[in-house]
Amino acid sequence: MSKAHVFGVDIDTRHFIGGNRIASAETYTDLSPIDMSELGQISRGGKQEIDLAVQAAKAAFPAWAALGPEGRGKLLFRLADLIEENVELLANVETLDNGSLLRSHRRGVMPRAAMNIRFFADWAMNQLSHPDFETRGHTNKISWDPSGVAALITPWNAPLMLATWKIGPALAAGDTVVLKPAEWTPLSASLFADLTIEAGIPAGVFNVVFGFGSEAGAALTAHKDIARISFTGSVPTAKIIAHAAADNLTPVSFELGGKSPLLVFEDADLELAAQLAVEQYDNAGQVCLSGTRILVHESVAAPFAEKFKERALKIKQGDPRDEDTDIGPQIHPVHFDRIKGFVNRAKESGASIVMGGSENQELGGLYFKPTLVMNPDPLSEIVTSEVFGPVLCMQTFSTDQEALAMANGTEFGLAAVVVSGNREHAEQITKNLVAGTIWVNCFFVRDLRAPFGGSKKSGIGRDGGTWSFDFYADVKNTVYSPNGWKE
Ligand code: NAD
Repeated sequence: MSKAHVFGVDIDTRHFIGGNRIASAETYTDLSPIDMSELGQISRGGKQEIDLAVQAAKAAFPAWAALGPEGRGKLLFRLADLIEENVELLANVETLDNGSLLRSHRRGVMPRAAMNIRFFADWAMNQLSHPDFETRGHTNKISWDPSGVAALITPWNAPLMLATWKIGPALAAGDTVVLKPAEWTPLSASLFADLTIEAGIPAGVFNVVFGFGSEAGAALTAHKDIARISFTGSVPTAKIIAHAAADNLTPVSFELGGKSPLLVFEDADLELAAQLAVEQYDNAGQVCLSGTRILVHESVAAPFAEKFKERALKIKQGDPRDEDTDIGPQIHPVHFDRIKGFVNRAKESGASIVMGGSENQELGGLYFKPTLVMNPDPLSEIVTSEVFGPVLCMQTFSTDQEALAMANGTEFGLAAVVVSGNREHAEQITKNLVAGTIWVNCFFVRDLRAPFGGSKKSGIGRDGGTWSFDFYADVKNTVYSPNGWKE
């Protein structure tokens, strides 16, 4: 009951608290989206387990903070090495648990998880500084002090990668951590917990409590001994967490959803535009950054649509473990039905579905076909709400002004993709787009030194480089007078 046998390995399905495995009386079933087989029974934590984990993290905090960036860095570098040594295991387990492509996990996602840990450990040691400055002969010295216990809550679409993006800077900053991973994808967090022991990270510095958002998640975010809440997930959940955080005035960092535009201008390279548009189906559309609203200048709409369809119809859907599969299944029956609901309501309201629009009958299960909705009502939910599945909308515009109004016309502001062959034109457009990240003639080029986050309802705060430490640490200014010294 306390182990899941996955990819030939026994994975502990109990919480990881203070260096020990602790079971809950109740468990829940973890399914593989590939074929809906049961992977294991997972401990279902609540207030009691959260209390224990926060106490363990609080007890471990002073010694961890006292190690300093170098002392912590040595252990975190070892942890990053261990992730790299275990890429094959982590990649296979994650694919079985969340249905994303094995080849992406192997080559991109798991190496990035290691990089998340190594990068922030290195940043704390070598980059985290601000030049001193003088005020009427007094010297201002700025420092980033450990802040306490960080509560980390993560989604299922890139479980370990997104968790380590928080764990890395939190631990490097000297905080201790309680992680509540998404209920649908608990397994990589358990393997990661084992690696923290192997790396020599002291007991209590990193803790994991499994369970549902409304139980374990709610107990964690309401806890009075939490110094930071870092959440990646949906806007509705963020609102609930914001209320919980308000009671204790706990600082929050929110990385939330999106409905990003991909703008194709009349001066664009249409082959490139079609290629970038088709990439928005990656991870079966379960990517917060996806440019799901394709906005095309009317003069190039017909040739663009042709090139797009030519490429999109070649997408191979199938078992995410196969090397030649491009997109796999959706994560869970509940999410699958949600996507289907969006598409069915769009159909009922008269939207034209020119590609896909239903489950993949050949594959069955949770495989939803890549779908294209043409010229939907601009005010309909398929245009304004995040579907988080392989569903793109295509709309046309006739002027830059109209394109910008459409692009900025949702409550989100996470990302945007601009395809234009004219640099001046592209600069004019990017200046007027509201988004945390804009890619011009490219997509998904990421660098941990760059700020990452959402504008409007897509988030609060920025991750990356010093921005991460500005959140996880207590930023302090100490002012030294020129007077009063005895030496
Ligand atoms: P979700 O909001 O349903 O759940 C996210 C996490 O919050 C899970 O661990 C869940 O258990 C927990 N949770 C749920 N209710 C809670 C509560 N009341 N209190 C505390 N925790 C609670 O989101 P999801 O469906 O898992 O993930 C998809 C969403 O995440 C999409 O909106 C997507 O855009 C977003 N996302 C954003 C980014 C980003 O960087 N901006 C990255 C990935 C995913």
